[in-house]
Amino acid sequence: MKAADIKTFGVVGAGQMGNGIAQVAAASGLQVIMSDITDEFVQKGIKSITSNLERSVSKGRMTAEEKNALLGRIRTATDVKSFAEADFVVEAATENQEIKLQIFKELDEICKPGVTLATNTSSIPITRIASATKRPELVIGMHFMNPVPVMKLVEIINGLATSGETGELTRDLALKFDKIPVQSRDFPGFIANRILLPMINEAIFALHERIGTAEDIDNVMKFGMNHPMGPLALADLIGLDTCLAILNVMYEGFADSKYRPCPLLRQYVEAGYLGRKTGRGFYDYSKK
Ligand code: NAD
Repeated sequence: MKAADIKTFGVVGAGQMGNGIAQVAAASGLQVIMSDITDEFVQKGIKSITSNLERSVSKGRMTAEEKNALLGRIRTATDVKSFAEADFVVEAATENQEIKLQIFKELDEICKPGVTLATNTSSIPITRIASATKRPELVIGMHFMNPVPVMKLVEIINGLATSGETGELTRDLALKFDKIPVQSRDFPGFIANRILLPMINEAIFALHERIGTAEDIDNVMKFGMNHPMGPLALADLIGLDTCLAILNVMYEGFADSKYRPCPLLRQYVEAGYLGRKTGRGFYDYSKK
């Protein structure tokens, strides 16, 4: 299959990544099916896309007609059966291995033969996810960055059995979405999170050990290292549950204590302080 043959694009999960991926796919002219476990979650995803697009209209980057046409290309669903029509599917559900293995098993049963099943996982091995299907040559990592409509990078990760054609198709789709594809081997954390998460974890240790306040730790990286955003604010944007899940995958995957998650991160996740998405993480977003 070539990128030009793909007309209907499936996205499993309508959270911050899923709705962003749906938006860029629809912006490239594809018909999109976006699912989540309940209609409430799917509608939350649609609301997020709508407010993004409204901002673009108010800034003169697109017309109201273009916004409506883009939204008109996105259909919603609450079960996997809807993906029977899809020509390419990206899974962007919660970073949890059991959930992803179950989704891939179901997608494999429902989707047409020859359809690529990609995952936006931040850290779970692609080879392991592919093993839940009978089409491992068609399973690949397509790792977008947050926020998807803004960030240019897409990491492409071939599992052990992923075919060269699947790799090329995924790369071409990333280009069609106006992204910059980068190839990574299937090792825990791939490239982006292998580098990013130890830095975020170290910033959390610095806070835990009271070396500085959250603001001062972030300001050091912003004004001393020219990072656009401090590591603690970035962790809040990614989601602290996702950060913890990625660190655990690297900790177990390399069996190396240098990836052990900071106890403070565990505690925040246990308290339900997951960052921006719950209104509280290292910073308080409830009043904004
Ligand atoms: P999120 O919590 O915002 O969204 C996850 C969504 O998946 C939720 O709406 C949840 O209801 C849904 N979901 C759970 N089980 C499902 C199922 N069986 N079928 C359909 N939907 C289901 O999380 P997110 O930040 O969007 O992360 C999604 C994926 O993207 C994860 O694998 C994560 O590691 C990866 N990712 C996240 C970031 C980031 O910065 N947050 C960056 C790159 C990749």
